[in-house]
Amino acid sequence: MKYYSTNKQAPEVSLQEAVVKGLAPDKGLYMPEQIKVLPQSFYDNIGNMSFQEIAYTVADAFFGEDVEADTLKQIVYDTLNFDTPVVHVNDNIYSLELFHGPTLAFKDVGGRFMARLLGYFIKKQGQTDVKVLVATSGDTGSAVANGFLGVEGIHVYVLYPKGKVSAIQECQFTTLGQNITAIEVDGTFDDCQALVKTAFLDDELNKKLNLTSANSINVARFLPQAFYYFHAYAQLAKQGKANNVVFCVPSGNFGNITAGLIAKRMGLPVKRFIAANNSNDIFYEYLQTGEYNPRPSVQTIANAMDVGDPSNFVRVLDLYDKSLDKIKTDISGAWYSDDMIRKIVKETYVSTGYLLDPHGACGYQALKARLQPGETGIFLETAHPAKFLETVESIIGEKVAIPEKLQAFMKGEKKSVSMGKSFNEFKRLLL
Ligand SMILES: *Cc1c(COP(=O)(O)O)cnc(C)c1O
Repeated sequence: MKYYSTNKQAPEVSLQEAVVKGLAPDKGLYMPEQIKVLPQSFYDNIGNMSFQEIAYTVADAFFGEDVEADTLKQIVYDTLNFDTPVVHVNDNIYSLELFHGPTLAFKDVGGRFMARLLGYFIKKQGQTDVKVLVATSGDTGSAVANGFLGVEGIHVYVLYPKGKVSAIQECQFTTLGQNITAIEVDGTFDDCQALVKTAFLDDELNKKLNLTSANSINVARFLPQAFYYFHAYAQLAKQGKANNVVFCVPSGNFGNITAGLIAKRMGLPVKRFIAANNSNDIFYEYLQTGEYNPRPSVQTIANAMDVGDPSNFVRVLDLYDKSLDKIKTDISGAWYSDDMIRKIVKETYVSTGYLLDPHGACGYQALKARLQPGETGIFLETAHPAKFLETVESIIGEKVAIPEKLQAFMKGEKKSVSMGKSFNEFKRLLL
């Protein structure tokens, strides 16, 4: 299948090129030229299928023309070595728990799938030494590093700002070893990002090395996120509760919700979506006014959604022919301040015993406030609350148990390379 750029100024490319390049040369994002509707028989039987079987059917619709069946199946099955259970919270509201992967956040699905698909293409191109560069302010680094851990032919460099990521986040990419190098930069996240961007533009580096990025806009990171929307629906269908399903997605760059919109295009019976934001309410404002005004992000306690110019907004526009009216038939919005988020986490914990993380809290509350009679709501619980330990513990006034997987990271030995923010230093290190 071909992939086109949302800016429509660059030629269409193969899946391989879209995955290896990431961004289109006209700076647009790649989109699949076709979104196949899956047959009714699939939906009739979905409640009896495993997560991996469902995901493979979805993956085949996008990638089946470009990747042999055995390989694709292996990639899907390897990626999904953990479950995404739907858990009842109260009334007709369910949590789709996306935090059972290695780094306890939903980005594991895209990170693991992309690592495996890129590994496959690199092998096919006969390359043996590809360097993946990623700058992180916290969570992306861990999902990417863990996704690529042990993938042959690829070495990952994670650049992060010294002293500016939480201890829990840091240990998730500094203790891995093998083909992962953590680089602790004496600077800010923006400095890290600038180093990566400069590296991609440097002639000498590009001549001598095979460099690629593991950006969240890559089609191999974003499309696989559709898998768990199907799996969530299947779990409710099995219980006879899948009528009028509303998905509510805590959103930052809008990659996660866009994958859900694509699932709907493939025929998944979803009634509508709600995009839940924190104080960075650019999309909410767009829905109200029709005007999209990106602005610098403000810091919140749901920090993975602190985005002032959501990169996947162009994909949403593309899916709905740039029509606000069409967008509004499928998506509504909501946003919550830090004070509200704290209140939601606390009240929900007290009244239901369910502990939300600050991101999932936005999703839960939007359903609670806006679900109509006869609808069933599923919010995406995008990370485990223990990843935001201090915040969550201070809200509920209790200790939060740290999952074993997270404890294992915390016991590992930190290994990182310290560096200033000069590009020459970074370049020497790569060479
Ligand atoms: C990345 C992230 C989000 C936002 O997802 P987008 O795809 O960028 O909209 C929400 N919650 C958590 C915990 C995240 O890590």
